[in-house]
Amino acid sequence: MNMNTRYIQPLEEAMQLDRAHLWHPYTGTIDPLPVYPVSHANGVHIYLEDGTDLVDGMSSWWAAIHGYNHPRLNAAVERQLQDMSHVMFGGFTHRPAIELARRLLNILPPTLNKIFYADSGSVAVEVALKMALQYHQSRGEHVRAHFATIRSGYHGDTWHAMSVCDPVTGMHSIFGSTLPAQYFLPQPRSRFHGEWDEADMAPLEALINDKGGELAALILEPIVQGAGGMYFYHPEYLRQAADLCRKAGILLIFDEIATGFGRTGELFAYRHANVVPDIMCIGKALTGGYMTFSATITSSPVADTICSGEAGCFMHGPTFMGNPLACAVAAESIDLLLENDWQGRIKSIENQLRTELAPAQTFNSVRDVRVLGAIGVLEMKEPVNMAELQKKFVAAGIWVRPFGSLCYLMPPYIIHPDELSLLTQGLLRVLK
Ligand SMILES: *Cc1c(COP(=O)(O)O)cnc(C)c1O
Repeated sequence: MNMNTRYIQPLEEAMQLDRAHLWHPYTGTIDPLPVYPVSHANGVHIYLEDGTDLVDGMSSWWAAIHGYNHPRLNAAVERQLQDMSHVMFGGFTHRPAIELARRLLNILPPTLNKIFYADSGSVAVEVALKMALQYHQSRGEHVRAHFATIRSGYHGDTWHAMSVCDPVTGMHSIFGSTLPAQYFLPQPRSRFHGEWDEADMAPLEALINDKGGELAALILEPIVQGAGGMYFYHPEYLRQAADLCRKAGILLIFDEIATGFGRTGELFAYRHANVVPDIMCIGKALTGGYMTFSATITSSPVADTICSGEAGCFMHGPTFMGNPLACAVAAESIDLLLENDWQGRIKSIENQLRTELAPAQTFNSVRDVRVLGAIGVLEMKEPVNMAELQKKFVAAGIWVRPFGSLCYLMPPYIIHPDELSLLTQGLLRVLK
């Protein structure tokens, strides 16, 4: 079924316009990487304009956890559209924002109970960093103006979010010296499924001894580092880091934008370590992949300290804050997740990924195979040729988008075992 009969312009012309005028992420305008025109998507299937049917292995960058065109999520948006698509959040509130808050409070740690809605993941990170700064300013600690993080992290593309991305793999090295300088610690070498090595803690201890009084916060992607390297590290790192930060008066920020809503096998990744941060960012799967939306959540003590300061409030307020359409679909997406046996589903995806990706361990081109929750990663020995590989994946009927030397799968949770096998078999066949 081609849904696009309403477009009169021939596809070829439309594609020329795209190539001439539209930027796509992380590719040039001079000789851009090819893009594939999508006509519609349903369940775990993405359909191209020429009728090609692709099994989705990416969840549109961690977001579409329930697949595409979900009747319940569609209905939530349509219902909300009848009432209002947006009103300003300054001076107004509305049921969708409140209903979403009720659901978030149910699934977040009880101490995290002040919710700030924002526009995108990057903005949620900006908000978290600003909260940490305002918190210390309110306490008269103006010198606490720097952030620490670990290498191979990714926290978004806006200015301060970029400054805490890995300076090399974080895609922003070009901005180098113009970015605010932050403190980078080595990536913990202790792996999620491996032995804990106490030596992993030494760099943070040394940094705190040396510069602890200048640090506003430590920001981490808990357990799973996403776009900076698809790496899974040991929960003990989070436990000890939290301890060190607490003793030194440094706030702890968890960026759960990629890991939230079940992806790692826990509802949020902090649960692997049972460590509650002071500030947490969520986004991506928050709306089930329907639209851009995020939230930064903190505790009453942090929020109240911020608001007892000079400014009397937190200095941020996006135009589209608390967008009702986004709130409505997010609330429905959380209901949908919790009503289903999400944990059982992720577990069976994890088991299947582990079994079916294991043969890649013997490939000459593959350095490492790792799986956690609904994330399966093949780390290659060399950086891949994305355009060439993408073409082969599409020919194999699967949607996989590698970056650097990483090929990975993170399918929608609704994927059927047969469809997941198409993904794993297609991936191995192309890479062999
Ligand atoms: C994707 C991502 C972001 C940025 O989110 P956007 O919505 O793309 O701005 C931030 N942090 C993490 C961990 C992410 O995976």
